[in-house]
Amino acid sequence: MKFTISLLLCASMAFAQATADQQAALQRITANSLKGDVAFLASDLLEGRDTPSAGLNIAAEFIAAQFRRAGLEPIAPDGSYLQTASMVVQTSAPKGHRISLRGGEKDIVLDEGLLVRNEAALQLKEEIVWKFDAESLRKSTPAELKDKVIVLETLPMQAARQLQQSAAKLIIIASRMPSRGAAGRIVDKSRPSYGPIVSVESAELRDAIHDLPTGRTQMLADIRLAAPEEKPFQASNVVGILRGSDPELSNTFVLVSAHYDHLGISPREGADRIFNGANDDASGTASVIEAAYALGALKQRPKRSIVFMAFFGEEKGLIGSRYFAGHPLIALDKAVASLSLEQIGRTDEEKGPAIKSVRFTGQDFSDLPTMMRPALEAAGVKIELDDSERSASFFARSDNVSFAEKGIPAHTLCVAYVYPDYHGLADHWDKLDYTNMETVVRGITAGLLSLADNTASPKWNKDNPAAARFAK
Ligand SMILES: [Zn+2]
Repeated sequence: MKFTISLLLCASMAFAQATADQQAALQRITANSLKGDVAFLASDLLEGRDTPSAGLNIAAEFIAAQFRRAGLEPIAPDGSYLQTASMVVQTSAPKGHRISLRGGEKDIVLDEGLLVRNEAALQLKEEIVWKFDAESLRKSTPAELKDKVIVLETLPMQAARQLQQSAAKLIIIASRMPSRGAAGRIVDKSRPSYGPIVSVESAELRDAIHDLPTGRTQMLADIRLAAPEEKPFQASNVVGILRGSDPELSNTFVLVSAHYDHLGISPREGADRIFNGANDDASGTASVIEAAYALGALKQRPKRSIVFMAFFGEEKGLIGSRYFAGHPLIALDKAVASLSLEQIGRTDEEKGPAIKSVRFTGQDFSDLPTMMRPALEAAGVKIELDDSERSASFFARSDNVSFAEKGIPAHTLCVAYVYPDYHGLADHWDKLDYTNMETVVRGITAGLLSLADNTASPKWNKDNPAAARFAK
């Protein structure tokens, strides 16, 4: 046993010890090159890189140019660095909806103030109405919700996802809050569509369903929902690969990514309306770019291939990374680890200054952080361990989860989870600590290299229930 442990230690020490070739490559990452990338991506000209927008597309072209500079191999079907997705923005029609319910104490007609979330027009006649409450909803299987018209008094938040994925014909929520207009939402039509949900603030409806027992009711529904308005658009993930050198392991992959989109322009009046998103996530994007540029110079490539990616649509619900996971340009079952880089430049973390340190979301979900530790520490970067609940709470909030759901040990790595201008208008490029960032990005890149050179691959921690569900 002891013997095995000391062998393992030796192995990780060996990975920590960068060769002269690797040292020279890491030196190519500099504070000024990171600053140049961030200042451009976060400039007002790009108008906050909303998905979709012209600013987003300019950013994509810039990142592709940097991947070209690094010498990465393009792997999109058309031989470019851009994996272009066709999507639509759907906005629910403001009018033309009608719900009528018969068979209760009195007939109810709802045709105003409806908040409709639908992907297509819907017409139903004399449908049986089923009532659920939080409890009965939690206990039901998807098959029990399938093809039903369902009324609910309120929507328990945890049930939202279950409901969306159920194949119910229609879900009607008697909300206690007035319905706000629905903003446009992005729909990937290559994915299965979600069933329609209508939320309406109506005391009449609430009263009518309040006293009903759960399950099948005496009510019948006639429904008409107008089709949403659709605006098609295209957006691109930027992808390049550094082929590994080992005849077998080069067919396996370490993934590293950042999202290059942000929140666009604020609808509120003001002198500064642009969400520049310098730290979130021009900093992660610059880190991916400069890591690629550094490793592109290696004379001795690592054993495994490294895939560098920049995703659109993270702020709109991880849309770009989910698109890649659904339409992968590599064999995803051969990906051994995935790192998403977020918020790498600001050191003013709410828990205190974060100097020469990184944090992993879901820090104890897998042994990936432990495997990267020797290389990080050799570069002067320590892993900051938060309380495990705080670290876990950020796990599902970034692109890493798109890959975790495919069974790949996948974490997001940041310097600060939370900093003062997070999702604010003042997330500007001149507030980042580029000297610290240089050290940190060199460390991350060394860590990435150590993963790509390691014949062992990271494993989920199956003792942790939150992580075990990703293990395949
Ligand atoms: Zn982000």
